[in-house]
Amino acid sequence: MNAYDNALRQLEKAAKLIKLDKEVVARLSAPEKVAMASLPVKMDDGSLQIFQGYRVQYNSARGPYKGGIRFHPQVDLDEVKALAFWMAIKCAVVDIPMGGGKGGVVVNPKSLSQSELEKLARTWIRSFRDIVGPEKDIPAPDVYTTGREMTQIMDTFSKLNGNKYSPGVITGKPISMGGSLARNVATGLGTAYTVREAAKTLKIKLKGAKVVLQGFGNASTFAGEYLEKMGAIVVGVSDSKGSILIPKGAKVSKILEHKAKTGSVIGFAGSKKVSTEDLLTAKCDILIPGALENQITAAIAKKLNCKIIGEAANGPTLPEADPVIEKKKILVVPDILANSGGVCISYLEWVQNNMGYYWSFDEVASKMEKNITQGFKDAYALSKKHKVDMRKATMVLAVERVMEAFNQKGIWP
Ligand code: GLU
Repeated sequence: MNAYDNALRQLEKAAKLIKLDKEVVARLSAPEKVAMASLPVKMDDGSLQIFQGYRVQYNSARGPYKGGIRFHPQVDLDEVKALAFWMAIKCAVVDIPMGGGKGGVVVNPKSLSQSELEKLARTWIRSFRDIVGPEKDIPAPDVYTTGREMTQIMDTFSKLNGNKYSPGVITGKPISMGGSLARNVATGLGTAYTVREAAKTLKIKLKGAKVVLQGFGNASTFAGEYLEKMGAIVVGVSDSKGSILIPKGAKVSKILEHKAKTGSVIGFAGSKKVSTEDLLTAKCDILIPGALENQITAAIAKKLNCKIIGEAANGPTLPEADPVIEKKKILVVPDILANSGGVCISYLEWVQNNMGYYWSFDEVASKMEKNITQGFKDAYALSKKHKVDMRKATMVLAVERVMEAFNQKGIWP
């Protein structure tokens, strides 16, 4: 099953539950616009390579399209469509006035030099500049894109538009480039806030709670660090080179130091290397899948040994795993809620860019905390009302909000 089938199945389930109007389902079952471009890049050795680039504009009922750009060898159109759909849903869950979009390039960024990556980022926006813009579609970082590419994209966009200062064309920028404080930690911080709410609901104390992180990128490391600040202990992590369990637990900062020195988490003092399955099914209180899609299969779900799952990644759980997880009474904070702190602070970055006035870290973080904890509470209330798991309930919450916007606008012409 590809990610887009998974996304549409989630929509179908929510639609059935609330007897959603067929026309609303139809409008949400296809993107409003799909753009594709061949991106030619002169490589350092003088050869020419052409990369496939995408921008999917899924839904703009609630506001301009919003969503990151992913550089990954496995990017394909269906994946970008799924991620764009989830962006529209996420923005509705945290109740920010934005729609959903997503971009991607089929590339292994690790095989490109800095200057080749820069050319690729600048060529991406040159190709999509007509459909992207501060009032139209606002990209952001995603897997393997960072503030550096965001700056290059903003700079190219500005130069192509007569040097018009346009910080609001993209979010996730470095602070010196009009970025927002707290944006770099936003996704992980949001995951930590929602896991805290889930723990409160289950009456689990975070002090001493054991956490396993799958993935060791931006989302999972900050989720780990903020959960640590709330009293939890990280006892397992993984990266693209493999997984480790650390029976006595370790500080995320120490594991990061080891990874910076050796290139991987493997070999960290006091850890043992295990398979991905052993990591995911290790005994812990909180599991944070923070890597890529399709990690928790039904077979893995049967062996899960945690109480809360906080999905920092997009689409980590396969649909057939959900009923198994529900039966085991594990509380899932679904991706569309758990990782929506990223886009929530992206929105706050765009607001600051538009008004030209900047807030402190605490002001930004507390605005996001308010929206995301409200999202958790609203979704939890719906899960009780409809007697369904949090994934269905969160999807219902979002779809009802998008439907409200559809109803207000109607269809024109
Ligand atoms: N790429 C992030 C996500 O999947 C952030 C998107 C944004 O900030 O627009 O939510």
